[in-house]
Amino acid sequence: MYQNCCKKCGSIALHTEMKGNNTGLYCEDCGAWIKWLGKDELRAFENAKSQPVMTDKERINEAIKLAVEYGGIDGVHHKDWVIDQMVRVLTGEEYEQIVKDAWNTDEKMEVY
Ligand SMILES: [Zn+2]
Repeated sequence: MYQNCCKKCGSIALHTEMKGNNTGLYCEDCGAWIKWLGKDELRAFENAKSQPVMTDKERINEAIKLAVEYGGIDGVHHKDWVIDQMVRVLTGEEYEQIVKDAWNTDEKMEVY
C-alpha cells in the first residue's frame, strides 16, 4: 500500500495539486509541500485513495462468485475459509465487529 506522510506534522491526510505540468503532494493539515509526484507515483497515490466501495448488489455477486469458485473444494478447512471470505465481502467494514461478536457468543456458549 502506498503511503506518504507529512514531514512537517506527520499527517497522512494528503492531497495532490496540479502546478503547471507537475503534480505536487501537499499536506491537508498544515498545507506543507511534500514532494512532486512522478506519473507512477501519482497513479499509486490515486489508487490508494480510491478504495473501492462496493454496493450491496456487488457484494452479493462477489460472495456468490466465491461460493461457486471455492465452494466445491472438499474439506472443512476450505469451507470455513469460503464462508469467512463471503462474510468478509458481505459485511465490508463491519466484518471485524461481526467476527468479534461471533467469538463472544461462542465463548458464552462454552461456559454453559
Ligand atoms: Zn503537515
